[in-house]
Amino acid sequence: MKKIFAANWKLNKSPLEATKFIQDFMKLAANGVFNQSDVLIFPSAFSMDAVSKACAGTKIQFGPQNIFSEKSGAFTGENSAEVAVQLGAQFFLVGHSERRQLFSEVDALLNQKVKLLQSLKVIPVFCIGETLDQRDAELTETVCFSQIEKGLAGIDTTQRLIVAYEPVWAIGTGKVATRDQVAEIHQKIFDKLTSMGFQNFQLLYGGSVKPENAKELLQVPHVHGFLIGGASLDPNTFYKICQS
Ligand code: PEP
Repeated sequence: MKKIFAANWKLNKSPLEATKFIQDFMKLAANGVFNQSDVLIFPSAFSMDAVSKACAGTKIQFGPQNIFSEKSGAFTGENSAEVAVQLGAQFFLVGHSERRQLFSEVDALLNQKVKLLQSLKVIPVFCIGETLDQRDAELTETVCFSQIEKGLAGIDTTQRLIVAYEPVWAIGTGKVATRDQVAEIHQKIFDKLTSMGFQNFQLLYGGSVKPENAKELLQVPHVHGFLIGGASLDPNTFYKICQS
């Protein structure tokens, strides 16, 4: 199974910068990377059309960082999953911790988003993870399981799903979960999803992944790839991670 390397650009990169990144990445990729890696890019909404055009004819796949839970209608300011699919998006971030924390997205809304994506036959990348306070209170498993149970309630367990475990305290902080911490929770998440009947899923780790720590973390059982923020903004650095 190929490893997945997903770039979350957050609110960075204009259409021109996004196009240049993809051109530069593809020059590096001429040395080979797609045989063993699936490369995904999550640009900000206004740069997705440029990413769609720049990715045409390449093996890079892409999708939005967020969509609304309805396809269309009177929802001023929101973005449509259906339109993203028309632009070629196949993978969709849902419930990134910044959406949960800064934009008050709750489990029930995220559940609707996942269901909408399944109805469009595209792949949700569903994000979960605990805060530092929750980890210190030994609530990591409780929080992650609750996010899974509520966010993935009633969805089709046969359709492909990606779950990204991202401890909130490791996102953008330079603090990386240790190999043992990742191994423990990934095993639990794997068992949980299996017990819920999911048959076709991959698990990503996210939180300050860099070329220096990527190799070690990729060897952890049930780590099928990474969701990468800061280190995905530079094509050389992102390429190094994709080569791990
Ligand atoms: C992220 O935003 O999903 C993320 C993991 O960020 P960073 O790699 O910068 O910690």
